[in-house]
Amino acid sequence: MIKNPKYIYGPIDRYVPASLNFGEFVLNKIQENSDTVALINGATNEVLTYGEMAQEAMNIAVSLRRMGIRKGDVIAVSSENRREFWSSIIGVICSGAVATTINIGYTNDELRHVCGISNPKYIFLSPLAYKTHAKIYKTLPYLKKIILFGDDRPANVVLYKDIAVPSDGANIPKGGYRLTENVKFEEFLPADVDGTNDTLFILYSSGTTGLPKGVVITHHNIVTLCSPNVAFPPLKGLTITPWYHTMGLVSTLGGFTRGTTTVYLPKFDVDLYLKTIEKYQVSQLTVVPAVLIALCKSKSTYDTSTVSVVYCGAAPLYEETAKAVRDRFPSVQALLQGYGMTETTLAITMNWNPEKIGSVGNVISHTIAKVVNPETREALGPNQEGEICVKGAMIMKGYIGKDRKEDFDDEGFLKTGDIGYYDEDQYFYIVDRLKELIKYKAYQVPPAEIEAVLLKHPSIREAGVVGIPDPAAGEVPLAFVVLQPGVTLTQKEIQDYVAERLSNPKHLRGGVRFIDEVPKNQTGKILRRELRKIAKSRKSKL
Ligand code: AMP
Repeated sequence: MIKNPKYIYGPIDRYVPASLNFGEFVLNKIQENSDTVALINGATNEVLTYGEMAQEAMNIAVSLRRMGIRKGDVIAVSSENRREFWSSIIGVICSGAVATTINIGYTNDELRHVCGISNPKYIFLSPLAYKTHAKIYKTLPYLKKIILFGDDRPANVVLYKDIAVPSDGANIPKGGYRLTENVKFEEFLPADVDGTNDTLFILYSSGTTGLPKGVVITHHNIVTLCSPNVAFPPLKGLTITPWYHTMGLVSTLGGFTRGTTTVYLPKFDVDLYLKTIEKYQVSQLTVVPAVLIALCKSKSTYDTSTVSVVYCGAAPLYEETAKAVRDRFPSVQALLQGYGMTETTLAITMNWNPEKIGSVGNVISHTIAKVVNPETREALGPNQEGEICVKGAMIMKGYIGKDRKEDFDDEGFLKTGDIGYYDEDQYFYIVDRLKELIKYKAYQVPPAEIEAVLLKHPSIREAGVVGIPDPAAGEVPLAFVVLQPGVTLTQKEIQDYVAERLSNPKHLRGGVRFIDEVPKNQTGKILRRELRKIAKSRKSKL
C-alpha cells in the first residue's frame, strides 16, 4: 500500500455517476442544454441545437431497437464530419449497441480489414461514404442494413430521416415513415448497460506493431473522461479533426457534456478555417500540429483575436511551432499540448504550463504512469529515458481477440510503445517511438500495412518501411525495397502501386530506396532502427 516513488500518480478528483451508462449520461447533459446550439457547420451555416440532437438520438435509439438491435450488437458510422454523425452515434449508444467509426478515406481493403474486426450489423453512411464504399459494404455477410443520411433512395437502404425526423413531425410525407418515432425525453430510457465491462466504442489502432486492431473502449472509460475535475467555461470551439478518430470523437463528445457550441468544417482549408474563426468568433481550437503549422504559415488577415485556448495533440508539437502559434495568435492564453493514444481514450498527460514548452505535461486524473527500461522493465527515475507505461480509468479494456498479456505488463500497465522521460517536476517529454507506428499529419500509418502491400508486388522480394522527419507533416513513410533478381522497377511505379491500394496518409511520400537486403534480427524481425540510420546517412541508388 505504499506508493512507488518512481511512479507518477495523477490526482483522484473525478466523480462519476453510479450507473456508468454513457448513453444516459450524455442524453441528460444534452437535454439540460436543449436550447443551446450544439453544432454549426462553418461551411454551410447549418445549425443543430442540443434539443434537436437529443430528439434525433432518441428516435434513432427506439427505431434501432424496433429494427432488432440488441445490447452488444455493433453498429458502424462512416461519414465525413456532418451533423447526422452525432445523432447517430448517441442514438446507437442509447440503444445499447456498440458504436464503431469507420474512416471514410479507407480503401476497400482497409475497410474490409477493420469491418472484419468489429463485424457491424448495421451501418450509418453519409451519401459520400455510400458513393465511395456501398459496393464493398453490400458484400459483407454480417452487415444486414445500410442507413443513409441523404435524400436519395437507392435500393436496399433505409433513409436516415425515416428514423430520425424531428418531434413536431415536420416534413413527414403522407402515409408517414415506418420507423419514425417522436420519442419524448420523459418517457425514454437508454438501454441498461454494465458500464465497467460493456463496450461503448470499437476504434482502430495498430498499437505497437502490425495491422490495425480493434480497441475496446468501455462506458466507464468515457464517463470518467467526460466527468471533468474542473468547471470548463463553455467556450465556442472549432474542430476539423476527423470524428472517426478518438481525438475528434471523444473531445467533441466531452464538449457536448459541457454544453459547448462546436463549429466544424467537413475538411481542412486554411482560408476557410481562419474565416470561420472570424465569422463565429471562435474561442477554442482543437487541432493536430500539422494544422497549426499550416495556420501559422498563412498570411490571411481574418480577425482571430477571439481565440484564447488551443488544444493540440495526437502528434509531437515542436517548440518552433508553439512559438509560431504565439506570434500568429497573440490572443492565445493557453496552448495546451496533450499526449495520448486511441488506447487511452484521449490524453493521459496534458501541459497547461507555458514555462514547460516542449513538454506533454503532467499525468491526468485517475491515471498512473511509469517510465521503464525497455529491456529490464525496471522503473526509472526522473530524466531517464524509457518506455512510458500507463494504468487507469481511461485505459482501454484491450484489443479485440488479443491476449491482454501482450500489451499490458504484470501490474496491468499498458505499454505505450513511446519513449520518453519525466523531469523533477513530473512533466513528461516524448522523445522517440519504440513501436513501429509512423504518424503522418497525426494520421496512423502502420508500416506493416505498407510492407504487406509491397510484398504482394511480384517484382518485390523484401520491403521495410520507416518514417522520416518532415517539417510540415511530422513524418512521411519511406520504403526500403529489395527487388527480385533481374527485374527493374522505378520509385514512381512503386509509389503508384501503393497509392492505388492504401489510403492517402499511407502513400510513400518519403520515397523508395533500393537496397540489397533489409536488415533483420535472428527471428526475421525488421530492424527499423537500422533502416532509419540508413535513411539518414545514404542517398538512394537511383
Ligand atoms: P493515436 O492512437 O492515433 O492517437 O496515436 C497515438 C500515438 O501518437 C502515441 O502513442 C504517440 O506515439 C503519438 N502522440 C500522440 N500525442 C503525442 C504528443 N503530444 N507528442 C508526441 N507524440 C504523440
